[in-house]
Amino acid sequence: MTDHDPNRPGDPVERLAALRHEFGEHGGVNMSIEASTTFTVMEAGTMPEIFQGRLGPDAGGCYLYGRHFNPTVFVLGRQLAAMEGAEAGYCAASGLGAISAAILGLVDQGDHIVAGDTLYGGTWAMLAEFLPRKCGVTTTFVDASDPDAVAAAMTDRTKIVYCESVTNPTLRVADLPRLAEVAHARGARLIVDNTFAPLAITPIDHGADVVVHSLTKFVNGASDFIAGAVVGSGEFIGSLMDLHTGPLMILGPTMDPQVAHSISLRLPHLPIRMIEHARRAMIFAERLRELGIEVGYPGLAEHPDHELFRRIGRPEYGYGGLLTIDAGTRERAERLMEDLQNTEGFGWMAVSLGYFDTLMSCSASSTSSEMSDDALAAAGIAPGLVRMSIGFTGSLDQRWSQLESSLRRVGLV
Ligand SMILES: *Cc1c(COP(=O)(O)O)cnc(C)c1O
Repeated sequence: MTDHDPNRPGDPVERLAALRHEFGEHGGVNMSIEASTTFTVMEAGTMPEIFQGRLGPDAGGCYLYGRHFNPTVFVLGRQLAAMEGAEAGYCAASGLGAISAAILGLVDQGDHIVAGDTLYGGTWAMLAEFLPRKCGVTTTFVDASDPDAVAAAMTDRTKIVYCESVTNPTLRVADLPRLAEVAHARGARLIVDNTFAPLAITPIDHGADVVVHSLTKFVNGASDFIAGAVVGSGEFIGSLMDLHTGPLMILGPTMDPQVAHSISLRLPHLPIRMIEHARRAMIFAERLRELGIEVGYPGLAEHPDHELFRRIGRPEYGYGGLLTIDAGTRERAERLMEDLQNTEGFGWMAVSLGYFDTLMSCSASSTSSEMSDDALAAAGIAPGLVRMSIGFTGSLDQRWSQLESSLRRVGLV
């Protein structure tokens, strides 16, 4: 399924809308929040079976305990699974909670992972430092936009090929159909972090086995919750909640049901938000290019992965809300961000993304600072690279005029 056809079945927004609507306990249009940490057992004799996971609510038993399973959190997991075209999903207290659970669900001591060399800093630290030291699980980092390099790095112990659909901060697009082929040829699973491209890319449609999200970013959209999700096969999601070996159950990165409820109410306007983030990012990218600025945006024809994004993505939801500007040096990048924030009020210097206002950071000295200088250079993260998550507050003309004024003031044009 590689030729893009906007009419093909499986549009993420249609899949979400086709899901059974969750009404509230009293018939409310919104679902209720299940705020209980524990659930009443009606017959004492059924307790052992409930504990062994053999008598859940779908088998005539009941829920057990909030760390194991909460119905409100489960609804959000189901909604994200529908959006991604997965069989099942569950949520975690953070993106890294979801990512670590997904990874630990697939590896044992001594196993091996092949991962892209341009990853979110926290994920990079988990793979490069935490897992080898704490679990004896090693990772080989390769350029994930080169599936042959990924194939060459695989060993008999490789259980996971891990990548981001659109990389942070270089905005390279993963060739998911080929990566899935490479992973499956050696019996490994493909895990894709789709935080940067919700709706625009649906990795399961292209062969990914598991998709993880930091819901903290675009999906939530208001920068007020840390949250994550993992979706995949029903069997895999069930295994993450196993009472003995499930990382979601045993390590306890439990999402609060109030958070699940809030995020669930923001999914209906995710498409509208993504389209507007992307529309503005595209217009800024084109205008920056006209001014001769070094701009990176997958919507631009000269971006190395533009064609790939067009082919596997859904351009009706745009090419994402992030763009990069190479200011040449770290000093100039810092002057630009300070001017944009403190003089123009264009956006805020902050490390996150997917907020309704524009957020800016200098990746090499912030979100990717866990990486060594060599790793930064290999991944193409220049010291003066400013990552911008383009917001949609204010008018487009107002924001462009602020951006252009700052660029002139710091001498970039
Ligand atoms: C933020 C982020 C994460 C980590 O998510 P948290 O919610 O902060 O734990 C993982 N991957 C990507 C691409 C991110 O941007």
